[in-house]
Amino acid sequence: MIPYKHEPFTDFTVEENRKAYEEGLKTVESYVGKEYPLIIGGERIITDKKLASNNPSNKDEVIGNVSQAGRELAEKAMITAKETFENWRKVKPEFRADVLFKAAAIIRRRKFEFSALLTKETGKPWNEADADVAEGIDFMEYYGRQMLKLKDGMPVESRPGEYNRFDYVPLGVGVVISPWNFAFAIMAGTTVAALVTGNTVLLKPASTATVVAYKFIEVLEKAGMPKGVVNYIPGSGSDIGDFLVDHPATRFISFTGSRKVGTRIFERAAKVQDGQIWLKRVIAEMGGKDTIVVDNEADLELAAQSIVKSAFGFSGQKCSACSRAIIHEEVYDEVVTRVEALAKTFNWGDPVDGKNLAGPVIDQAAYDKIMEYIEIGKQEGRLVAGGTGDDSKGYFVAPTVFADVTPNARISQEEIFGPVVALSKASSFTEAIQFANDTDYGLTGAVITTNRHHIEQAREDFHVGNLYFNRGCTGAIVGYQPFGGFNMSGTDSKAGGPDYLQLHMQGKTTSEML
Ligand code: GLU
Repeated sequence: MIPYKHEPFTDFTVEENRKAYEEGLKTVESYVGKEYPLIIGGERIITDKKLASNNPSNKDEVIGNVSQAGRELAEKAMITAKETFENWRKVKPEFRADVLFKAAAIIRRRKFEFSALLTKETGKPWNEADADVAEGIDFMEYYGRQMLKLKDGMPVESRPGEYNRFDYVPLGVGVVISPWNFAFAIMAGTTVAALVTGNTVLLKPASTATVVAYKFIEVLEKAGMPKGVVNYIPGSGSDIGDFLVDHPATRFISFTGSRKVGTRIFERAAKVQDGQIWLKRVIAEMGGKDTIVVDNEADLELAAQSIVKSAFGFSGQKCSACSRAIIHEEVYDEVVTRVEALAKTFNWGDPVDGKNLAGPVIDQAAYDKIMEYIEIGKQEGRLVAGGTGDDSKGYFVAPTVFADVTPNARISQEEIFGPVVALSKASSFTEAIQFANDTDYGLTGAVITTNRHHIEQAREDFHVGNLYFNRGCTGAIVGYQPFGGFNMSGTDSKAGGPDYLQLHMQGKTTSEML
């Protein structure tokens, strides 16, 4: 087996790659507007109730009309997943891993199509869509290999006349609730982590990103995944979200999304239901209020570039996005000036145009919320760039910068999930780290400094799951920078890390007298 290496990013300055992307767009356009069924036990089920997945750049364009599961079909999917689990848990880990490797190979061949689908369905610019698909491939390649490492358990000691083993066994039926912002990578990653470890899955993708999830299930089927291992059941949170979380047969929930929904799931999952004979496990990846700290001894152009790229790439709709920068007072004015200049020349607009690095935000609710925060920002700081929006055709918000914001202001504390960044001043490096830590979250952070003592200080005191030095705070790579945060950012799990798969399994000790 060739060692794991992350999937390279596509260089879109190369004409051939631009052409390939445009071909991908054509392929997607050939199936835009189609109907999609649920998939339960391999069976396609069309429901009366459907939900359109729209293009956020062009609200009138329907990417797909997707059947919606109600409780009855969610129950049917649960029964199917429970039955399938009894076989799937005994299928060799090698077989399960091979499904992932084959699926990765298929996606690699259809990479530009999947990237283009992300552009159309979720408004992702080319470079970000390409990275999203690459990350999904990485999850399959990495978790497949991780499973092969874990298949014989972990070594334990045996005394003379005794044979001890410590093996990992799967948990059961997992409910995977995936987000729209990494509609391929996180949807695929959380699904395959659950299935490669021998669990069966009910996948409820975000309602704004259902078509790409459907296309992925088709790929898993082509790769040899048996029927019923992953069941595709889009549906509204109020119809089936609580129902699945509360279900006594649910063994674990793997959720990525907002803090509000994540904490709700965590609370509900804690309640032991009638007939339930385990405590549910919850893997939750939630929000962030991620800070870039700029020291007085630092490359200031690097600082400004890092802030702007991390704040505005994919319109700030990443839980890792930089939404606040804390800048040493000695270099504050200069950094603000550079950030302003970069923000004002940042290319944004319809992401179908390859030059745009930010597109629309995902839907009307997101647009309205972000515009409200921009109004709040006008009270709390000095608007230096952006501040406008246009939702006539799609949900477009200009890259927005507020300066002179106090670190406890609302726009510096609450997750906005849009292209808005708040700049604040600190009187020392130590104070900057204090300000950076003063949030409910703890996902990512970055420090721009040339002072090695300060790097060490941040390593000890900057309390985030992913801390970066002299670069931006987004773009973790599977198997290189395991991803996941502290505090209200989630359950401290690390996607793409060496201990992630174990969250989907339990350790079984066997001891035989010889
Ligand atoms: N893993 C992504 C990154 O490092 C962020 C994931 C997310 O926003 O959910 O940028």
